[in-house]
Amino acid sequence: MVSHMFTFTNTAFKRVMNVHNELLNKVKLAASHTQTKRLNIQGCKKGQVYLIGAGSGDPELLTMKAHRILQHADVILVDCLVSSELQQYFPSNVEVIFVGKRQGCHSMPQASISRLLVEKAQENKIVVRLKGGDPSIFGRLSEETNALAEHNIPFAIVPGVTAASACSAYTGIPLTDRTCSQSVQFVTAHFKDEQQQANWSQLVAAKQTLVFYMGLTRVDSIVKQLIEHGMKPNTPIAIVDKGTLAEQKICCQTLAKINVEHALKDFTGPALVIIGDVVNQRKDVNLAMLKADYFVKERVPWQLPF
Ligand code: SAH
Repeated sequence: MVSHMFTFTNTAFKRVMNVHNELLNKVKLAASHTQTKRLNIQGCKKGQVYLIGAGSGDPELLTMKAHRILQHADVILVDCLVSSELQQYFPSNVEVIFVGKRQGCHSMPQASISRLLVEKAQENKIVVRLKGGDPSIFGRLSEETNALAEHNIPFAIVPGVTAASACSAYTGIPLTDRTCSQSVQFVTAHFKDEQQQANWSQLVAAKQTLVFYMGLTRVDSIVKQLIEHGMKPNTPIAIVDKGTLAEQKICCQTLAKINVEHALKDFTGPALVIIGDVVNQRKDVNLAMLKADYFVKERVPWQLPF
């Protein structure tokens, strides 16, 4: 009898426990749904800005992270230097705003761009600010992050391949070299205040590489200043025009011998100036191997099914 009663009680207990567990699971499920919803609204959905580097020139230099995030954008603010070919990777219903940003090219003032970023985020949108190269290198990043921080708008930064790395790879000029260059300096040739000057005496130190951004129209004065401040006149200089693109051109010379007017007459920019003994380490790279259709073209005769 006792044993029967125990069996009965045990079965009843199990039933009660089953009901209890079922209820518990339902509660857990409901809680997790609420949490997901909350995350969607507060965490991964609206009202935030991604400052993304598109890489320099070649659209295939866009990173996988940048590509993934672009797919979620409601609005994309694009710079002049971003390849127009990248637009094929934008989501179909996205709002695209061209904000310019290149010397001589009509562009929206920086303050208006920063304001627009804030406004679009405040409209509860996922905003992407797509910049040429890397956003943190001569990309006016802090003007934009300052505005976002001031308005408590969450933002993240996705790095990109900066022009120095891209041009180095596509011209075969290393940026550093154990034999002749222990450091590399990225220098702007375009100052906010025209009276402001680079620290020339520090730039002429030996065994380093100088990379001037925005320097195409100032090659003459850069060369003059470096020689005046003590750089060897036989130091090699390379100017890379439209680096990584099909129209890429390169001019290699020495500081003493370069005739800017003649040598750069067909250069239209964007262009990068690389100065230092690394230019002598340049080796021919096979650019055809980097083309998007390289393997397709190579394989066609072998892949025909008949
Ligand atoms: N944030 C960018 C630089 C913006 S400043 C980056 O990280 O690359 C713009 C300058 O970058 C141009 O004036 C030029 O000096 C350089 N630049 C950009 N794209 C280039 C390209 N395809 N070839 C050579 N130089 C380039």
